[in-house]
Amino acid sequence: MAKKIVTDLELKGKTVLVRADFNVPMKDGEITDDNRIVQALPTIKYIIEQGGKIVLFSHLGKVKEESDKAGLTLKPVADALSEKLGKEITFVPETRGKKLEQAVKDLNDGDVLLVENTRYEDVDGKKESKNDPELGKYWASLGDVFVNDAFGTAHREHASNVGIASNLETVAGFLMEKEIKYIGGVVENPDKPVVAILGGAKVSDKIGVITNLLNIADKVLIGGGMSYTFFKAQGKEIGLSLLEKDKVDFAKELLDRAGDQIVLPVDCKIAKEFSNDAEITEVSVDDIPADQEAMDIGPKTVELFKEQLQGAHTVVWNGPMGVFELSNFAKGTIGVCEAIAELKDANTIIGGGDSAAAAISLGYGDDFSHISTGGGASLEYLEGKELPGVVAIANK
Ligand code: ADP
Ligand code: MG
Repeated sequence: MAKKIVTDLELKGKTVLVRADFNVPMKDGEITDDNRIVQALPTIKYIIEQGGKIVLFSHLGKVKEESDKAGLTLKPVADALSEKLGKEITFVPETRGKKLEQAVKDLNDGDVLLVENTRYEDVDGKKESKNDPELGKYWASLGDVFVNDAFGTAHREHASNVGIASNLETVAGFLMEKEIKYIGGVVENPDKPVVAILGGAKVSDKIGVITNLLNIADKVLIGGGMSYTFFKAQGKEIGLSLLEKDKVDFAKELLDRAGDQIVLPVDCKIAKEFSNDAEITEVSVDDIPADQEAMDIGPKTVELFKEQLQGAHTVVWNGPMGVFELSNFAKGTIGVCEAIAELKDANTIIGGGDSAAAAISLGYGDDFSHISTGGGASLEYLEGKELPGVVAIANK
């Protein structure tokens, strides 16, 4: 369903509430990765240019008790944002009250205000995270329209996304629009043929994704730690490789049902210890010894997956092919990144937190049509679930 976006509204002189995702990683009060702030800029800059008065909301981390508040203030985000926008912004270290209301009234066209961490409201009865109706209504009362640009929270029904949206006209920001276009596009009406590549640690995390993508994709290539549960289901020796015993039956059932729609690795890299310095051997998946662990797909599998990708018009990837955090076991994941980068006529999409981090850290950040910014949200979207944050945006 096409959603209304920020360009569909007249914003001049309006107080525009914006839900952004500023849930950045922090260490000792310093932001260690500002990607989420960077991703939020296009929408903020557009509203400034249009002459709207911007009131920004975001959560940061989990605020369970009063003592969590000091370490989870959005002040460092306010400073970083001000620097990136090249203009002063107002930071209100509160989530409600006279001071906030006055600061909103004092805004001129093109001004930007950031409200304190919405999860400060969780200390007293989880008002934000349980979508307390009064809180959403109160925040909505501060503005004229609502722009939801926080895809990373779209799988949650919170006061600062769904709560505000139920009280105010709501449109998508540019980041949200892009996520809906690409990730939503995969599950709604993908350009065929579709190839899905699934990996990562656990079958159990991905049951919904595998099941839904088998309904959508022409081929589902399975690598990573989860593939060994499938090999176990085929009766193979998998040594010390990752295994989810209680998912062997599920894997068996899928293999029976899917036939050659599922493509499994043919070789792997094994080692005796889970270490980057371990001695590595490449073996066929039929020759994994009992005392070793498979930690990456092998070169023959990279070639096989490359062949399977030829001619695809849509490629969706979730889950690394190996323990990419250890450089000696990153080659399978790199190989898949390269194979996807070479596809010129395909929409190529990554959903999933670690897969996105892998592609970016390995240097392939610019080679995909879209790398989702929402780990959990993108997974739920690929599972075919409706995301409450997306549902709450007005349809065109
Ligand atoms: P995403 O966040 O993209 O959904 P996951 O969280 O499912 O991905 O999986 C990522 C993790 O899977 C990584 O930490 C990686 O080390 C691990 N992994 C991949 N292959 C293997 C393997 N063969 N053995 C153990 N761990 C693996
Ligand atoms: Mg993960």
